[in-house]
Amino acid sequence: MSRFETVDYQVNDAIALITLNRPESRNAQNMRLILDLDLAFDEAEKDDQVRVVVLRGAGKSFSSGHDLSIVSDEGAGNDLENMYLRRRELPETLMEHEAEMYVGKCLRIRDFPKPTIAMVHGACIAAGWMVASMCDLIIAGEGAYFSDPVARMACVGTEIPMEFWDVGVRKAKELMFTGDKLSAAEGKSLGFVNQVIADDELEAYTLAMAGRISKVPPVALKLIKKSMNHSLDNMGQADSFRQHFTLHQFAHQSDEFKQFVSQADASVSDFVARRDAAAKG
Ligand code: ZN
Repeated sequence: MSRFETVDYQVNDAIALITLNRPESRNAQNMRLILDLDLAFDEAEKDDQVRVVVLRGAGKSFSSGHDLSIVSDEGAGNDLENMYLRRRELPETLMEHEAEMYVGKCLRIRDFPKPTIAMVHGACIAAGWMVASMCDLIIAGEGAYFSDPVARMACVGTEIPMEFWDVGVRKAKELMFTGDKLSAAEGKSLGFVNQVIADDELEAYTLAMAGRISKVPPVALKLIKKSMNHSLDNMGQADSFRQHFTLHQFAHQSDEFKQFVSQADASVSDFVARRDAAAKG
């Protein structure tokens, strides 16, 4: 029995298995899920038995992204979600809210002191990709796909521009302009998916790899990770994240974004239908 409402947390043989657990919404990230995920990482960080973290989604998909009820104004009907909904009403509190809950919680995963593996199956959309991208390795099932349809919602991609770093600038622009899907196999050919595995063998393969990594001396692993992430920052990643986030905040205040949100019929399904209408050409 997990301690968390929206995330399952198990430790077996030095591997913490964290499962996003809102399968009814393809693991859409509401505020509860983002907080629970952070708490699960707290557990994995302080438990010396845990050497590797595997992150996955329950049900058919890894994650469909942020729960759009917070943008569409539908609200989630509970106090926690409503509190964050109110924080989105003014530009200044919106920026703080997204810096804390979206960027901050993601960077915490990027800089987590133990190796992390995203085990991705099914849909990995927008903020789903953003979270997966923060992990050190991505092992994907054959049927997995990645996409970022946020421009169709009149915003500048997700809060973190992971595409640039994951697939390179040319492909990043294509994917962000169109919102098209990138298959796991294409992701591997572009170098940001480590391995593509048959869907029914994905878990066994990923846990076996995690098992092998868990036997490598942990300080060495931690230092490798620090070195690699430091090099990313020297290449400009931290600055790129900051600059993108500023533009993302501006986009939330743009007239076209406000028009998009205000046209939504106060429901997530309407929001998604209008978002995806732009893709039909
Ligand atoms: Zn945003």
